[in-house]
Amino acid sequence: MFHKSLPGFIEIICGSMFSGKTEELVRRLKRAQIARQKVQVFKPAIDNRYSAEHVQSHDASKIMSRPVQTAREILDHVEDNTRVVGIDEAQFFDETVVDVAQKLAYRGVRVIVAGLDLDFRGQPFGPMPRLLAVSESVTKLSAVCMVCGAPASRSQRLAAPAGNEDSKVVVGAKDMYEARCRFCHEPDAGVDSLVSEAVQTDVGVAMTTSVRPGQGVFPAASRMT
Ligand code: ADP
Ligand code: MG
Ligand code: ZN
Repeated sequence: MFHKSLPGFIEIICGSMFSGKTEELVRRLKRAQIARQKVQVFKPAIDNRYSAEHVQSHDASKIMSRPVQTAREILDHVEDNTRVVGIDEAQFFDETVVDVAQKLAYRGVRVIVAGLDLDFRGQPFGPMPRLLAVSESVTKLSAVCMVCGAPASRSQRLAAPAGNEDSKVVVGAKDMYEARCRFCHEPDAGVDSLVSEAVQTDVGVAMTTSVRPGQGVFPAASRMT
């Protein structure tokens, strides 16, 4: 049964890394659960850092979630009595996630989507621009610039930690990225050579792989590489 009588809509939570997107997503979802609304949470399978089965913030707030390979899979898993669907790290999905969010909203589901609006170069990230355009509500969060303390809207990519250049998985987003404001952000800093390419998720780990630019290990994540 679809909730045709309920007003479905799309809420976006965006901003830089460390801006509190996941914290805010978890806060909204937990409030819905308190009101006994059935909540389901999804994230791209690449984001298995802190826990494969949770969405978890840098500040350790978390909620159960289901990793999915593609956005379309979300539709297969959403149950008829689900009132709220949360999607974290939406920037890593392809454009299909826009149609998925729209379909759910038309069914009467409240869809809350969190994701990076900009990649580390400061360019719009994957499906986020279209998600922002079709949504009913946008919350743009900022972090604190690690250089000057101003509100930070950008994610600065730092050099890979020494000694970890060859490892497949480098734990610790804090070593790889930091929040910066527009004026302290250096889009071209930390861009590696042909052999070492980093794929970063928003939650704490980067993977470095021996691939050439444009051949990301996870196609939907290639904008971050
Ligand atoms: P996001 O999902 O946007 O990456 P999280 O919700 O996972 O953000 O984490 C937000 C938390 O990150 C903050 O509450 C704070 O504890 C921590 N944090 C680390 N660096 C910063 C920073 N530069 N500015 C603000 N918060 C930061
Ligand atoms: Mg997050
Ligand atoms: Zn700054």
